Amino acid sequence: MATTIFLLIVAAGFGLFLYQTFWRDKLIRRRPFAPEWRAILVKNVPVYQALEPREQTRLEELIQLFLAKKDFYGCGGLEMTDEIRLTIAGQACLLLVGRGWQVYPGLMSVLVYPSAFMAQREQRQEDGTVSHGDHHLLGESWSNGKVILSWDDVTSGGRDFHDGHNVVLHEFAHQLDGLSGATNGAPPLGGSGHETWAQVFSDNYEDLQARAAQGLPTVLDRYGTTNPAEFFAVATEAFYERPSALERVRPDLYTELQRYYRIDPKRWEREYEPPPRQAPATPWPNKCD
Ligand SMILES: [Zn+2]
Repeated sequence: MATTIFLLIVAAGFGLFLYQTFWRDKLIRRRPFAPEWRAILVKNVPVYQALEPREQTRLEELIQLFLAKKDFYGCGGLEMTDEIRLTIAGQACLLLVGRGWQVYPGLMSVLVYPSAFMAQREQRQEDGTVSHGDHHLLGESWSNGKVILSWDDVTSGGRDFHDGHNVVLHEFAHQLDGLSGATNGAPPLGGSGHETWAQVFSDNYEDLQARAAQGLPTVLDRYGTTNPAEFFAVATEAFYERPSALERVRPDLYTELQRYYRIDPKRWEREYEPPPRQAPATPWPNKCD
């Protein structure tokens, strides 16, 4: 009897917590979205203008949740501003426009450097020994609740939404992937579909490796050959930034991503006018490392 009462109290407490969270989040989402914030999105995330009005409203509400729940830190002398916060939140939340209201529940902090930053990485040599070396990175996603980004590359990636390279989409795809408990290219899918996902991703991953080894052209960044987690991240970049090309050459992969993100970015692609092409601030192959 005592156990039953205890369980009822725990269940009631949990229900009350969910209820309060729902209403608190709803109040956050309904906060007014400042016109100057929209101006930042138009400038730094111009694909925002290609969204339908209901998608723009949803993106703005997701941004409100992101800004309320995540801490931002400037690193390497970078002073944090609303422009930086909005530009990162705007791109990160594009991945959630077709999904629910869960805004990267594992993420606590976003650290931003002025440009590509140095990080130490282990490298396994051919003889089996492991050495340490410094690498220039554009971004990193950690399973302990951190994303690290280069501001130069956040802006260049956001302003050109047609080149298939976007470090924010890349790192936040890793965050979604990690929600399954392991960052391995298989995010939580819910319901059925795991077998199809595994087969389609495995086939396309192996095909990308084969094409890259033969020096053939690829729609997906060859960095996706690194491992299945990087494959999912670069496939996400291509899905949002080059959807027509991706669907043409890898229709089964496109279908799986469309099912997962619950959005079809081809319409955004038709509406979005890209700026003149500029060289990236740093070479792409060092995206995540
Ligand atoms: Zn990566």
